[in-house]
Amino acid sequence: MAFDSLSEKLQGVFKNLRSKGRLSEADVKAALKEVKMALLEADVNFKVVKQFTNTVTERAIGSDVMNGLNPGQMVIKIVNEELVNLMGSEVTDITYGTGGAITTIMMVGLQGAGKTTTTAKLAGKVKQRGKKPLLVACDIYRPAAIEQLQVNGKKQDVEVFSLGQEKPLKIAKEAMDYAKKNGFDVVIFDTAGRLHIDEDMMNELESIKSNIDILNTILVVDAMTGQDAVNVSQTFDEKIGIDGVIITKLDGDTRGGAALSIKAVTGKPILYAGMGEKLSDLEQFHPDRMASRILG
Ligand code: GDP
Repeated sequence: MAFDSLSEKLQGVFKNLRSKGRLSEADVKAALKEVKMALLEADVNFKVVKQFTNTVTERAIGSDVMNGLNPGQMVIKIVNEELVNLMGSEVTDITYGTGGAITTIMMVGLQGAGKTTTTAKLAGKVKQRGKKPLLVACDIYRPAAIEQLQVNGKKQDVEVFSLGQEKPLKIAKEAMDYAKKNGFDVVIFDTAGRLHIDEDMMNELESIKSNIDILNTILVVDAMTGQDAVNVSQTFDEKIGIDGVIITKLDGDTRGGAALSIKAVTGKPILYAGMGEKLSDLEQFHPDRMASRILG
């Protein structure tokens, strides 16, 4: 399960803290050193870990905490609060268009991250809000992608717009016309993923972005790739600008390094988390619930 190994380690540290009545500064420092090790082992970005431990230490080694009734519990509370802050504290969703404007969502990401599956999952969430989404098959390079989107669209009872192997920009433009004519209020573009970030890929995404009014550029990353997912997020944000991230395969990620680093490193929030292969396995990302999950 998500965060299991990190969770187990932190719970061990906290059990120790709780068992002590009074805490010396050395006790707190020793405990925070263990927290630091646990976060590094969970593959959290080292700069993020450093900043995190500095903040927690500063807050915890104040006289209010040390002389309080239950210092161990206070330290745990501070760790919890700072973990929530790390992940962005607030819940962020897709930005929906106002005044009758169509909500456009461009899904981007590397091949295998789970982009096509997540596109269909997200369509389900959009439908639950009473909207009428259209899925657009712009991933023309991976042969199975179009069919996969069609199969998943059908399962979600959402229409899929495709022009086969036509140029992605042409597909995107025609899809917008189709959406306007047919009363769709949300259009989600599944774009091409490559094995690695390359110029062609970025150029193609940029050309869609500069020709179509994209309200949400959402990057899909695989939690299991740890710091690679963080680096990919940073690169996509620098090259094309992203509004948020959906992190997939969190169900299999016992470490949690990517989930804990992305917001702190890129400044962009995680909107949703993929928690399994089924189309219903997409959860809104709640930083506070994630922190509770980690701290047990
Ligand atoms: P794409 O190349 O980025 O479009 O990736 P796909 O959508 O084809 O997904 C790649 C694989 O990851 C598929 O086998 C999916 O079922 C799987 N997958 C996607 N999201 C999740 C998730 O949240 N959890 C798990 N366990 N598997 C996922």
